[in-house]
Amino acid sequence: MMARGFDHALIRAQFPILEPGVHGRHLHYLDNGATAQMPKAVLDAIVRHETRHRANVKRSVHFLAEAATEAYDDARESMKAYVNAASEEEIVFTSGCTGAINLVAYSFGSLLEAGDEVVISALEHHSNIVPWHMLAKRAGVVVKAIPVTPEGRLDLDALPKVIGPRCRLVAVTHVSNVTGAETDVAAIVAAAKAVGARVLLDGAQRAPHGPIDVKALGVDFYAFSSHKMFGPNGVGVLWGKSELLARMPPFLGGGEMIARVTLEETTFAEPPRRFEAGTPPIAQAVGMAAAARWISGIDQEAAHAHLQSLTGRMLEGLEGMGGGRVRVVGPLGLQNRYPVVSFIVEGGHPHDICQLLDEEGVALRGGHHCAQPLMNAFGVTGTTRASLALYNDADDVDALITGLGRALKKLHL
Ligand code: PMP
Repeated sequence: MMARGFDHALIRAQFPILEPGVHGRHLHYLDNGATAQMPKAVLDAIVRHETRHRANVKRSVHFLAEAATEAYDDARESMKAYVNAASEEEIVFTSGCTGAINLVAYSFGSLLEAGDEVVISALEHHSNIVPWHMLAKRAGVVVKAIPVTPEGRLDLDALPKVIGPRCRLVAVTHVSNVTGAETDVAAIVAAAKAVGARVLLDGAQRAPHGPIDVKALGVDFYAFSSHKMFGPNGVGVLWGKSELLARMPPFLGGGEMIARVTLEETTFAEPPRRFEAGTPPIAQAVGMAAAARWISGIDQEAAHAHLQSLTGRMLEGLEGMGGGRVRVVGPLGLQNRYPVVSFIVEGGHPHDICQLLDEEGVALRGGHHCAQPLMNAFGVTGTTRASLALYNDADDVDALITGLGRALKKLHL
């Protein structure tokens, strides 16, 4: 059933994996930043597709193939609506956010010249760092980085120093997977446009929190994964402005991305097909679209208020625990931040904290979160992270706080 309005119990009841009977205990699942769970609407859409419409797309003309192609086209249409793209041609299905960023780094990157600059930031997930380092090696492109503030936000004062006349692309996260900080996109876009550079946003941590308006954001590329937004894994979306995608060469070669192939040469299809070589993740795209529609059916304001209140409860509970041994890494206020909360425990390794909390039924993530440059900036090797989704409630937050209190005692902290 589609969630209309916001009723927390109704939302939680839509997630079969969270039913107490499944694991014989109440799961306090606070690792949503890594992967969120799937509601019944999404699971049903996938099963329906696989049991009624499974076939390859854009190839055969029989009934099932046409049904599968229609489902895949409909999925693209839903994702177009979710990001407010100008047309379906701007939606490229990829293997995930990582696949989307690599596509841009390879394809848009091939249009750059040695000495051109790509600006990233110290807040990035490795997915938005490594592809640019690989491009630097391949093409002599220079990678520069916007530093972070002690609060874990992009240091906007540094923009004039970092974004110069050779900058061709600014590729930054929309929401940090470590600090939960939301990027001031308008400031980034203004600085990039002033030198004629393009902007890519890594939306992996933003996409689960409601529809996105790429037109209002004023960016050029937007990348995100399905599995973090209540959809299946193995699929993601790259949104790109059509005039840009039209100028970009393909990334992977293979079936269905061509106009014509002879033994001597290949000409390529128009976007988005040009960028979707081989059989795409069809049922996954159908599931991702169902997830986007499921999210869109929720009262966004109420959902936002619910998560803000839980984030506030968590920040209050954590900060200063253990006689000041627990310290939140990231913004302490609720302004321009999403429900991803990282903390460090002086004298306690994140893996030990996660292990002890797992014994309490609380699922967290500990480590560098694929953001080693950020860990270096903070002078730590890792943090413990709790990331919330719509099905979480005050019980989950309280289980974390009381569980952490017990863990600190066990560790004699
Ligand atoms: N960017 C950010 C900010 C992320 O949090 C993640 C996933 N942790 C990614 C990129 C990569 O996403 P995926 O592994 O789904 O490709």
